[in-house]
This record gives sequence, C-alpha cells and structure tokens, in this order.
Amino acid sequence: MGPRFFVGGNFKMNGTQAFLKNLIDNLNTKQFDKDVEVVIAPPSLYLDQCRKQANKEIGVAAQNAFNASSGAYTGEISPEQLKDLGIEWVILGHSERREIFKESDEFVALKVAFALKSSIKVIACIGEKLEERESGKTFEVVTRQLQAIAKEVNDWTNVVIAYEPVWAIGTGKVATPQQAQEVHEYIRKWLKENVSEATAENTRIIYGGSVNASNSAELAKQQDINGFLVGGASLKPEFVNIVNARI
Ligand code: PEP
Repeated sequence: MGPRFFVGGNFKMNGTQAFLKNLIDNLNTKQFDKDVEVVIAPPSLYLDQCRKQANKEIGVAAQNAFNASSGAYTGEISPEQLKDLGIEWVILGHSERREIFKESDEFVALKVAFALKSSIKVIACIGEKLEERESGKTFEVVTRQLQAIAKEVNDWTNVVIAYEPVWAIGTGKVATPQQAQEVHEYIRKWLKENVSEATAENTRIIYGGSVNASNSAELAKQQDINGFLVGGASLKPEFVNIVNARI
C-alpha cells in the first residue's frame, strides 16, 4: 500500500459566493472513497466561506501565499492569515503563477519553505512546457524545479508534489497514463537519490492536466500516481467521480 491517495480541486479565479455555496452543499452530501484525502482550493476571497461550509473531512487550500507573516506586501496573503481561518493547505508554484506572474523556481521554493515553517501543508506544482517536452527537456525541467525546493526544504512530510505538464493544463490534452507514470517514477527516483528513501516512499506525487471523470481511472492505476490536482473538472459534478476513480 502506498501513501494515501490525494485529490485536490483548484477552482482558480472562478466562482461567486452563491456558486461556491451550491458546489460545496453538493460535495457535502457525496460519499467519497474513505482512502482519499480531498482538498479544495477556492479563490482567497472565499476561503473563509468555504472552510466554514465544507465538511471537516474536506481540506481547504489557498492558491498562493507569500513568504512573510505580515507586513507591507500589498495584495498578498500570509500563511499566518491562512491559519487564522483554519486553512490547512496552500498550492504553490502553479504554472499559471510561474508563467503569468513570473514566479521563479527560487521564489516558489522560498514560499514553500515559509509555508511549511508556518505549519501550512503545501501542494508544490512542477512541470514542463510543450516546447520543453518536445525538445527532450522534461526531466531536466522537473529536476531544476525540485532542486530549487530541496535547497530550502529538508522535511517533505507535509509536501504533496503535483506534476502538471503545462501543455496539459486546461487544454483538454491529457498526458497518457504512460507519459505521466514515466515522470512520476522519475520524480520518486529523484527523491530517493537526493532526499531519502522514506521521503520517496511516503510523498504523494499527484498528476494534474485535464483530468476528468473519463480519464481518471486509468491514470489512477499507475504505480507512481498518488492522486490528482484537478482544475476545470473540480467545478463540475464529475469531481466526485474523479475522487472515487479507484472504486
Ligand atoms: C490545474 O489548474 O492545476 C489543472 C490541472 O487544470 P485542468 O484540470 O483544468 O487542466
């Protein structure tokens, strides 16, 4: 038996109070596979509403957090503030943050380390762009992104690694189970050789990129896929089918 399966729903910049109320009311009534940890990530404005409304079995994540507890950082939110709302998780290094907001590997790593130090668990996203895959640089890119995090973080207990090939995010172009497995296996081997055997065994490595109810079961069968980070489909009823992909 591997580590506990993990399914995250990244709502991105979507939803209103009414929409999210409806979505979570619906999730609260569903029967989830008990062997799956479910975490939803609403926009920061709605974290409080969602944490109060969601069943306790459902974790809640922010989509970003800065690497300071408080101060003159206009527009940012801190891990301390997340804790104040009872938020347990944060997504860091999402490709949209890296691409649109120009977050570097080093900045992402500093935020990962600071969130962990503040007792917020981290979903750390890594993954290659299309041109990087096409030029055979996939392993090089994920290695660079992992190395930056490993430079700042010793204890990976509260880290979930999300492998999200950028070309598969929001495109409807899912990686094949073999393509995803190949990179997950590489990441696990990298953890074994560069962090520790226990870290390699216990760290959840989840896949993200156009996961839906039709492709999740095959992906979930792969040995090194320990769950999913779901974007678009997490806003739809099929999210429950993805959580329950293994039953
Ligand atoms: C994501 O945003 O992390 C993601 C995987 O999006 P989608 O499922 O829509 O491709």
